[in-house]
Amino acid sequence: MATRRDFLKTAAAAAISTSVVGKAYAFSNEHPQLFNITHLGEKPKMKLTFFPYELNLRHVFTVATYSRSTTPDVQVEITYDGVTGYGEASMPPYLAKELGTVESVCDFLTRAGKELEKFDDPFMLEDILTHLDAMDEGNAAGKAAVDIALHDLVGKLMNQPWYKIWGLDPAKAPNTTFTIGIDTADVVRAKTKECADQFNILKVKLGRENDKEMIETIRSVTDLPIAVDANQGWTDKQYAIDMIHWLHEHGIVMVEQPMPKTQLDDIAWVTERSPLPIFADESIQRLKDIASLKGAFSGINIKLMKCTGMREGWKMVTTARSLGMKVMVGCMTETSCACSAAAQFSPAVDFADLDGNLLIANDRFEGMTVVKGKITLPNRPGIGLIKL
Ligand SMILES: [Mg+2]
Repeated sequence: MATRRDFLKTAAAAAISTSVVGKAYAFSNEHPQLFNITHLGEKPKMKLTFFPYELNLRHVFTVATYSRSTTPDVQVEITYDGVTGYGEASMPPYLAKELGTVESVCDFLTRAGKELEKFDDPFMLEDILTHLDAMDEGNAAGKAAVDIALHDLVGKLMNQPWYKIWGLDPAKAPNTTFTIGIDTADVVRAKTKECADQFNILKVKLGRENDKEMIETIRSVTDLPIAVDANQGWTDKQYAIDMIHWLHEHGIVMVEQPMPKTQLDDIAWVTERSPLPIFADESIQRLKDIASLKGAFSGINIKLMKCTGMREGWKMVTTARSLGMKVMVGCMTETSCACSAAAQFSPAVDFADLDGNLLIANDRFEGMTVVKGKITLPNRPGIGLIKL
C-alpha cells in the first residue's frame, strides 16, 4: 500500500536526481529573466568593478561658501550570473569627511570587491551590507555605491522594481523641487520663468544677507510653492523665526536646516514656534541619528550618499514615520543611477529634491524622469536604468 511516507521518499529522490543532473530552472513565460537563476550545485560569484567618472555640471554651482563646475564621482557595477547591477558614489568635496574622496572610495571598493566574493547569494543584503559597513568609519558614498548596485542586481534577479518590492504605488511619487541658484536679479528672473513651466515646486538656498530680496525676485515671476534651504545660515533663533514667519507669508512651504547643527536647542525652539515644517539636513547622516532629532525638527532629509544607500534609506523612512516625523528625499549632483535609486521610495515621502541628474551634462543612464514636474518611475526591474 502506497503510504504518504513512500510518496515523500519518492519526491525527495526526484529532487536529488534533478540536482545531480545539473540545473533546475524557475520557469516563467511572463518573466523570462527568472529562467536561469537557480543552478543547483553551481555557485556563481558576485564580481565588483568600478571606475572614477567626473560629473560635468551644466551650470556653475554656488552656495553660501563656494562655487564649483564638476563633482567627483565613481561608477560601480556588480555582475552575478550574467546580470549586472549599477551603482554610484558621488562625493561633493565639502562632504569628504563622511562621504569619502575618489581616492578613499576607490580604495574601499577594491577591498569591498574582495569581501563580496566571500558571499555567494546577493539576496543576503542585510548580511552583506552590514559586513561592508563595518569595514570603514567613513566612505559612506562608497558604501552607497555597493548598496545601490546590489539592490539593482537583486531587483533584476526578481524582475521587479524596488518600489514594487517595497509595496509602494508609483502614482504617489511626488513633485520634485528644482533649485534656483543664487545670481543677479535678472538671471534669477529668467531662470525662474524657465523653470515655472517645467516644475510645480521650486527650491531656493538662503542663509545670506539678501534672503528677502531673492524671494521677492522669484515672487515677481511666479506664485509656485517654494521650499527653502537655509544651509545652517541663520545663527540667531529670533532672526530665524522672524524669517520663517515672513517666508510663510510669501508662499514658502517648508524650511530645511535653518540653523547650525551645533545649535540643536535653538532649532527646537524655532520648530516649536514655526508655522512651517522644519527639516534636518546637515544635522542628520544616518539611521542612528533620527531618534535624537525628534522634537527638534519636524522631519528629516534622507540622502543615499550620506546614509550608505537604499537599505538604510528605506529604514530611515519607516523609522521617521514611526516617530511621527515627516520625510523628504534629497540627492547630490549625481547621474540618473543614484537619483533613480532614491526615487524608488519617493512615493512614501512628503517632499522630494531629486534634481541631481538634471544638473549634469554627462549622464550615463536613463532612469527616473520628471514629467510635468512630477517624479516618474519607470516600470523596469531593479532601479529601472537604461544605459545610454
Ligand atoms: Mg540641504
